[in-house]
Amino acid sequence: MRKLDLRTGKPVWHAYRSSHINETALTRSLTTDVLIIGMGITGAMTADLLAEDGHDVVLVDRRGSTLGSTPATTALVQFEVDVPLSRLQKTIGAEKAVRAWRRSRLAVGNLRGRIETLEIPCRMTERQTLYLAGNVLSGNRLRDEAEVRASAGLPGRYLTSGELSSQFGIDREGAILSHGNFVVDPVRLTKGLLLQAQTRGARFFAPEEASEIRFKKSSIEVTMRSGNRIEAGHVVLATGYELMDVVRTDRHEIISTWAIATGRQAKDRLWPGEAMIWEASDPYLYVRTTHDGRVICGGEDEDFQDEEARDRLMAKKTQRIVDKLRRLLPDIDPTPEFAWAGSFGTTPTGLPLIGPVRRRPRLFALMGYGGNGITYARIAAEVVRNKLAGREDTDADLFSLADTPMSRSSSG
Ligand SMILES: Cc1cc2nc3c(=O)[nH]c(=O)nc-3n(C[C@H](O)[C@H](O)[C@H](O)COP(=O)(O)OP(=O)(O)OC[C@H]3O[C@@H](n4cnc5c(N)ncnc54)[C@H](O)[C@@H]3O)c2cc1C
Repeated sequence: MRKLDLRTGKPVWHAYRSSHINETALTRSLTTDVLIIGMGITGAMTADLLAEDGHDVVLVDRRGSTLGSTPATTALVQFEVDVPLSRLQKTIGAEKAVRAWRRSRLAVGNLRGRIETLEIPCRMTERQTLYLAGNVLSGNRLRDEAEVRASAGLPGRYLTSGELSSQFGIDREGAILSHGNFVVDPVRLTKGLLLQAQTRGARFFAPEEASEIRFKKSSIEVTMRSGNRIEAGHVVLATGYELMDVVRTDRHEIISTWAIATGRQAKDRLWPGEAMIWEASDPYLYVRTTHDGRVICGGEDEDFQDEEARDRLMAKKTQRIVDKLRRLLPDIDPTPEFAWAGSFGTTPTGLPLIGPVRRRPRLFALMGYGGNGITYARIAAEVVRNKLAGREDTDADLFSLADTPMSRSSSG
């Protein structure tokens, strides 16, 4: 079992208050319908939907709620998958690629609806999204991408360089302007969902580390490092980038990423509509604002997981992000008040891995989230809910772990 140093530095979410979640140590062994391991955004979304369906749900976390990767996220909730639709079609086929993009859009809409219904005070704000031409898709390719998206029924309009400059004051070869995405405070969202699940009976135990998994005929027994056991009808691994050894990782790679947040900007220094911005580049830069006018900017990803190397690069990466931000949006003051780095899981297709582990139908793994972790967490929660309800999820095949080998070892 891996324990990673998931993030360093100070994420901007530390600046804002959030609810307190009551978590206690596990003092005895217990049984439940569903055990969810991990109390980040993925565990919280899954707990919310399963508790709503009437399942008895228990969550454990080795650190505590929202203490993993979740507070590192910059929380742009987008339907756009990291791999452009025109590219994804070439790797997994047109039908599957379109289905994956549409499911992603549906998940963003479903999550928005859920937050509204539950009135979670997570500062959800709808934003347009600008996808700027870059070294992955230049102007002409970006125009083609806009056409492919339009023929799949997905929103997005190509802006020429002139339109981009006159409407947003940004100097690039072109962009796709889309709508339907939003930003949130991820810590408030996670805690809001956990509190909702708690009102429906969900129980939280932390710090508790799941260390061993034993498969029984009609249940799974998970032993905590403390020695207590939880026997569950189903177990959901919502452990983020720390995969338990029970699932092998050959389709999933951990990389490193950096982000900053500036001080509060005067409103007239911000760009029209405070649209979310990201680039068709590798590595890409992305930008959003907070409710109180800070600018969050992240990117500069590197293909390594070594946490010491990641942290050594902190000052250099922060400066590079500041320089890029200044070039992109010359009217704002890019001086960072917060800077942080985190680990990040990616897959070659940009799609997550979600579903029952091979030959272990009672064990679900939710992983490989890339830049769309929040959107994919919602898809994961829906796939698990449908499976437990015995409903067919017609997109589950897109994210299946079916050909991901399971370790022979049953220890976590
Ligand atoms: C800098 C950065 C920017 C990002 N920006 C975005 C963005 O703009 N939009 C977006 O959608 N996504 C973004 N992401 C991705 C997003 O942050 C993640 O996908 C998401 O937070 C993962 O949530 P999670 O609940 O799966 O994992 P986590 O929040 O890491 O939760 C997993 C939990 O499992 C616990 N755990 C692990 N193993 C065990 C065990 N054996 N026993 C008990 N508990 C265990 C951990 O302690 C942890 O709390 C970003 C990520 C980073 C690092």
